[in-house]
Amino acid sequence: MKHPDEPTAGKFATKAPKTMKAANPVSAVKTGKAVKAAHPVKTAKPESHLAMVRRARRINRELAEVYPYAHPELDFRNPFELLVATVLSAQTTDLRVNQTTPALFAAYPTPEDMAAADPEELEGLIRPTGFFRAKAKSLIGLSTAIRDSFDGEVPGRLADLVTLPGVGRKTANVVLGNAFGVPGITVDTHFGRLVRRWKWTDEEDPVKVEADVAAIFPKSEWTMLSHRVVFHGRRVCHSRKPACGACPIAPLCPSYGEGETDPEKAKKLLKYEMGGYPGQRLSPPPDYPGKPAPPLGAE
Ligand code: SF4
Repeated sequence: MKHPDEPTAGKFATKAPKTMKAANPVSAVKTGKAVKAAHPVKTAKPESHLAMVRRARRINRELAEVYPYAHPELDFRNPFELLVATVLSAQTTDLRVNQTTPALFAAYPTPEDMAAADPEELEGLIRPTGFFRAKAKSLIGLSTAIRDSFDGEVPGRLADLVTLPGVGRKTANVVLGNAFGVPGITVDTHFGRLVRRWKWTDEEDPVKVEADVAAIFPKSEWTMLSHRVVFHGRRVCHSRKPACGACPIAPLCPSYGEGETDPEKAKKLLKYEMGGYPGQRLSPPPDYPGKPAPPLGAE
């Protein structure tokens, strides 16, 4: 494997290695074939904005081939369930939320039911997600507002969603993109970290990150791009130990080498279906190649 800092023809690789087009990306990563191409070179000349945009769009295309099954990792059956699950997902994992919501939605299936909930009972049901008192307050508040101001239906507009207690721009974008089909970019911790590693932006503020990334891609890509980037962040490009040596987009990444570059060691860092483990959803979509997550207490 060529070292990323080794001088070559320069700039980022322009042709995808054939192994990136593998029908089964999981097996491609497992075999380590996906990383046998030349790695990017840091040239003295700064990359132009146009070159960065082309590279960003190419990363998106490659991620679409690696994760054709990318999806929101919260279990939900309607906009209300997605809204509640997203509020609960603050400061915890989607897995923990998915393990908590079956009992919650069985007890309070509609906004009317949740608005009328006994706070202590609701707190008890959502306790595993942490910060359960504040979250219970938000859930009762947003359910009351949906009941009283929106005829019992979750509103499908950003301006209305952010008026609900506990609902910020990120939560609103998740709900719009996945329950209403309105294109949205969701900047969570994974998304921000990866797009900065890829030099799509230098911004730290999620609203500015969202604006920078929105300017690179057509609206029609926004929602799926968000899922693909978060999938990659959770499976390969981790916060502390990115698995660079097993990363299928390494040839396009200016931060290659920030993590483990040895292919065998890097493969051991892969998570979820990439590493052969269960996913986060108890009810994943039918095309998900990994295993469903276990229910609460069965891990
Ligand atoms: S794992 Fe490494 S090579 Fe892959 S995207 Fe992250 S920093 Fe770049």
